[in-house]
This record gives sequence, C-alpha cells and structure tokens, in this order.
Amino acid sequence: MSTFNSDSYCGLYCGACDILMAYKHGYEEKIAPYLNVEPSQIKCHGCKSDTIFGDCNNCKIRSCAIIKNVEHCIHCDDFPCNNFHATLFSKEHSDKFPHVKIIPNNLEDIKNIGVEQWLKEQENKWKCPECQTDFSWYTPKCAKCGKDLDKTKDYNNL
Ligand SMILES: [Zn+2]
Repeated sequence: MSTFNSDSYCGLYCGACDILMAYKHGYEEKIAPYLNVEPSQIKCHGCKSDTIFGDCNNCKIRSCAIIKNVEHCIHCDDFPCNNFHATLFSKEHSDKFPHVKIIPNNLEDIKNIGVEQWLKEQENKWKCPECQTDFSWYTPKCAKCGKDLDKTKDYNNL
C-alpha cells in the first residue's frame, strides 16, 4: 500500500518534491548534505500525510489550513491572507525556492478542474517528455536519458 500523498493545502505538488522523491526512490544520501541533515531525516510521504519532513511539519500554512478545516487555501474565506504571502512569497523564500512561484496557478487549477484532475495533470507534467521518468523541482537533467529539464518545469515558464 502506498502512503504517499502528492496533494497539499497551499497548492504545491508534493509529488515533485526533492525530499519526497529522494525518500521514495532511496537516494537520501545524495540530497541530505544540501539540506544540512542526516540521510535518515530525509523522510516524507507528503504534506497531507503522517510522515512529514521537518520544515514542512512546521509550516504555518499547513497548520492554519488544518485548524480552519479547509482542503486548499483557495477555498478559505481569508485567501489570500498575510500568512500565505509571508510564508511563501517573501523575497528571501521565493529567491531560494523558485518552485513556489507556480502556487497561485496551481490553486486556480485546483479550483477550476478539481483536485483529482489536477493531481493527474501534475503527475504527467513532472515526467521527462522523452522517456517518462519522473523528476523533481530541482533535477537539472533526466536521471535516465539526460534530457535538460529546466525548460520543462512549469515554474520556469510563467
Ligand atoms: Zn528522460
């Protein structure tokens, strides 16, 4: 039984997260040094699961959505609130993690097409167009065929 869940409250697609993918595919040692953690700490099943990586476990958006009982921020009466903006889109955060820039588009998609369809589309988006191998937000080249993936990433095409 797979316990991975790629959905999140803020509209990020956890299925393309470097941490979740490293854990899923068993290359924790490769990314742990970049995050200053031990390989054993690279462990996550996604935002909406019971096994969550450290920083995401402390996410203020996640805890807010749980308290307010909303499945996605875009369905919240207070959206877009200061918490949402400050947590994700401070200059420091979005410069360091450019993948968050796609979040407003993802939330619009979730609202318009529904989360199940959105998850299906995301799954396809984060597969190499040449060989269908899945890749993460920060994978520069396809692990299998070597295709340059930067142009394929949605957050680079805004
Ligand atoms: Zn490929």
